[in-house]
Amino acid sequence: MPDLALNYEQIWEDAKEILKEKIPNNTFEPWILPIIPAKNNEECFKKDHIVLKSDKSFGVSFLNQKYFSEIQSAINTACGENLPVNIIFVPSDVKKAPKKKEKPAEHIVLMKEQIDNLKQMHSFCALNLKYTFENFVIGDNSLVAYNAAKQVSEAPGQKFNPLFITGSVGIGKTHLMQAIGHSILKNFPDLKVKYAKTEEFTNQLIDSCQKGQESYQKMKKFRDRYRNVDVLLLDDIQFAEGKKRTEEEIFNTFDALFHLGKQIVFASDRPISSFKNTPDRLRSRYEWGLAVDILVPDFKTRVEIIEKHAQRSNFEISKGVAEFLAETFDNNVRELEGAYNKVSAYASIKGIELTAEAAKEILGIGENAKKITPEIIIDKCAEYFNVAKKDILSTARSKEVKEARQAAIYLVREILDTSFPATGEIFNKNHTTILYSYNKMKKDLLTDRPLQNTIKEIEKLIR
Ligand code: ADP
Ligand code: MG
Repeated sequence: MPDLALNYEQIWEDAKEILKEKIPNNTFEPWILPIIPAKNNEECFKKDHIVLKSDKSFGVSFLNQKYFSEIQSAINTACGENLPVNIIFVPSDVKKAPKKKEKPAEHIVLMKEQIDNLKQMHSFCALNLKYTFENFVIGDNSLVAYNAAKQVSEAPGQKFNPLFITGSVGIGKTHLMQAIGHSILKNFPDLKVKYAKTEEFTNQLIDSCQKGQESYQKMKKFRDRYRNVDVLLLDDIQFAEGKKRTEEEIFNTFDALFHLGKQIVFASDRPISSFKNTPDRLRSRYEWGLAVDILVPDFKTRVEIIEKHAQRSNFEISKGVAEFLAETFDNNVRELEGAYNKVSAYASIKGIELTAEAAKEILGIGENAKKITPEIIIDKCAEYFNVAKKDILSTARSKEVKEARQAAIYLVREILDTSFPATGEIFNKNHTTILYSYNKMKKDLLTDRPLQNTIKEIEKLIR
């Protein structure tokens, strides 16, 4: 009888040679190289199989998801027959045996490796590392949604299926949805989690439907991506409303997952009742489980959100400033956070103490802050270049008028943050002209010193 263990080793060596050609190096080296085939005296050995062991948990789930068929086919070629493959995670001995006291460094290295594995796993599932339950501030506005999300994460597929999270823009839907994903990955590392925005789902679907030789393969790949999972988190589902092909695919994906007891979570910035153009059969699926709504957080919760955010970024914020921000930005957590980011960054860079007064000034909403309008900006540009204001808004093309117009377009966008179409309306131009002019100015400013000074001078006149 041949020595099986030796055979397996040789088969794996040959298979590796084949895989080296097929798998990118940045996957081959970290995830394929550490693999060792199990020997027949090992507990994980399986008769008539080749069991491939690795102590890299992320690598194992990654290879199983993305390269399993390549590995199986390389094994078949290497041994000349069909030999089923299992790729499994086996913690290294260092993990099992308590470490000797004098070697703490190894322990730390190992922990770091595990954390890195987890981080990579989370980013593979397209999750933002910040969006966890721990970083979510619970208020009366979100208590029900938070509890439902927690329960789903503790027993995926068993409680509320689907869980449908609604709430206005910037209110915490994506955060809560991804927190479910993080928690499941941590507590059930064997489960596959997939997060996607519906827009991405639609684009990939369109891409897979294109006719051609590979269309079958592409569609199969698309379906594998969304159906070969244990937890599907589909965000901004309102995007699908009325898009026939997308809604049909969501319906089929939903049924395929639901019947296998897999968890589905949807998020939408509109309630289900507003999905008038969605076929009844899909709308009723949305309603099957539990729908929870996140409301606008009250003042106390908004202050806590700011404080938590500051704590995470190691920034000391006074109660006064947190309260000022919470008072001013009262209906959108994303804007509240944006304002906090702006004032804290400004104070850190300038090295000044952040008071409520300073925050007001930075945000341009202090009592003394001048209200800047497009008219003021255009006036000041006309004044600086000594041209008539009406010429800036016309199609006149003298050198000075063109320069004044370009500066005005740039400054209106920079200072007032107007969209390209809105800026176009101000200047009587279409939005592509504005886009071109703005981008050109931005590029020129990178290298053109005199132009930088000109813009600075005009800004002084404006503010
Ligand atoms: P939505 O998906 O509803 O548009 P997001 O989930 O993207 O909103 O939230 C916007 C921002 O506000 C994110 O950075 C998120 O972390 C933060 N945020 C929202 N709600 C909370 C909360 N309750 N606690 C902490 N951060 C929050
Ligand atoms: Mg969102």
